[in-house]
Order: sequence, then structure tokens, then C-alpha cells
Amino acid sequence: MTPSYELTSCAACGESDADELATAESMRAEVESLWEFHSRRLQPGIPADHLMDRVAFSQHAPLRVVRCRHCGLVYRNPIERATELAAIYQDAGPTTEVLRALHETQRASYAAQAERLTTVFGRRGRGIEVGSYVGAFLAAARDAGWQFTGVDVSESANRFTRSLGFDVHDGPLESFDAGTRVDVVAIWNCLDQLADPAGTLAAARRHLAPGGMVSIRVPNGACYAAMRPLLDGPLAGVARGWLAQNNLLGFPYRYGFTPGSATRLVERLGFRVEHVEGDVLVPIADKWTRPWAAVEERVVKSAIGAVAGVGGDDLPLAPWFELYARLEEAPQVHPGS
Ligand SMILES: [Zn+2]
Repeated sequence: MTPSYELTSCAACGESDADELATAESMRAEVESLWEFHSRRLQPGIPADHLMDRVAFSQHAPLRVVRCRHCGLVYRNPIERATELAAIYQDAGPTTEVLRALHETQRASYAAQAERLTTVFGRRGRGIEVGSYVGAFLAAARDAGWQFTGVDVSESANRFTRSLGFDVHDGPLESFDAGTRVDVVAIWNCLDQLADPAGTLAAARRHLAPGGMVSIRVPNGACYAAMRPLLDGPLAGVARGWLAQNNLLGFPYRYGFTPGSATRLVERLGFRVEHVEGDVLVPIADKWTRPWAAVEERVVKSAIGAVAGVGGDDLPLAPWFELYARLEEAPQVHPGS
């Protein structure tokens, strides 16, 4: 299906002034260089569905990528229409074997994620994970003493996750049981793909008990914006590896939030940011990765991880970041006063 596109404005601050980061032509070249980067590093004979999922290509290369002049959000403009986006995610149905392999691969990183969440939130509790996919975080959270329910638009992934014993709702968060209140709504690796991130964060707010927290993990648009211009110069090799090892080359996202633009968005919705940290993409090497490339991935990610916290408020060297924000306390209302 060829998508249709519409012009849009910034999903974080609503402004429409933006600077162009990449044209259609340069995006095509970037996606080609992504294919080339990964095909050199994979074993011959890798099944196509494993390739598609581990490399995270977008369904279609962006027509144009821009950066908001007001808050720094990086986004596709024009952008694929949202109705078609829903169709893409609903009919993507990898085999059970692929889903199980992903669940196992992601489990260890999500164990660390659950631990960070406990530290930042300050205790364990109940939660909703938006984009629970193959249930790797649900499982890690359960092991860490949390009680999480999943929400995902992919019915085939949800069937798999339910087979592991988890409670999962089919559809977006906006259609989830309105009466459910939890301590945390977690949106890992998913806010960047949603049709309406602000709408989903507003829905998250409605599901939070007092003192509740929303936590997100997203690709860092500030890193893409810093590295993208280097792809055409003497540092091209470094910039390409920096982006490709972290699934940022080819910009396979609708939105590249930055610490600044995400902060602006959640503050507008009544949250206060408590913690932001830069990070790299979780490990992706598996049995299909050539041994030298698995070593290279570890070395490069650990080097990038070491500088992920420097360079300014928007963490431009960090390919990914996490942001944890708590509901502002409602003003005390005294009846009769
Ligand atoms: Zn903006």
C-alpha cells in the first residue's frame, strides 16, 4: 500500500516554523546506506522477517525530515496519514517463532528498564504499558514486582503475549477501560510511531492515580539533527555508525522527540519532569549477526553510552533518551471556603 501524505505542524508545541534536515533525495540515499550497512553485518541466508524486525526499517522512507524552530522536535513533514498508519500496524503479523525470539532478546534489557523505573518512581505498583508488543517488559516488570497490563494495536502480537499469561488490551490507549487508575503509564520505544503522541499522553494522564508517573523511552531527534549534516563530510563513517547502530539512520519514525520538546509537551499536559537520561539502543545482535559485527556493536554502543550524558540539555550525542514525569499535584479544594 502506498501511503498518502499530509502537511503537518509540530506535534509537541503546535508551531509550524521548521528547518529542513533532509530532502526526499537525501533520505533515499540514507536508506540505501542503511541497507548496505546491515547487509555487510548479517549472516548470509537470514530469513526476511528476522531482517525486517531487527533492523526496523520504516514501511516507507520519509519524504522530508524537518526540525521545529521553537522546541527542536524532529519530524516527517509531509507525514503519512494516521488512518493508514493504523492499518500498517494491525496487519503486521510475524510468526510465533519470530515473536518468541524477540521476547527472549528483549527480556534482559527490559529487566534493567524495570529496575530503573522502580528507582525513579520510588516504589513498585500497578501500571499500563502502551505498545506492549511481545510482552518482554510485562514479563520483566512482573519479575521485578510490578503489576503491568499491556495495551497494543497489534492483535497478533497480543495473542502471543496473552499466551504467556498477561492481560493485554487490543487497540490504542484512548480506547482502554476509562475506570482503570494506575501508578505508572510506560511508553517504551513507541511514542515516536503514534498518530497523536499528545493525545496518547493526555489519555495516560487520565489513567493515573494521584502521584502517578508517565515514563517514555524514545529515539533522540537532537542526535539525528546533530549527526545528519555530518553524513556528507569527512566524519561520514562515524556519523553513519552512530546513527545506524541505534536505528536512527533513515529516520524510521514519525517523531524524533528531544529532551526539550518532550519536556515542553508533558509540562503542557500537567506533568513535572523528574528525570531524563541519555542512552543507546538496546543490543540487537543475535545468531544472524556476523561475529565481528556483534563485537563492533558492543564496542560502538559502549563508547556512545559513555558520552550520552554530555553536550547540552538536549543530549545531542545520545541516540535515545528516557524521560520520567510525575503528575502535578492538584490544587487543594476546601469545600465551603
Ligand atoms: Zn515544536
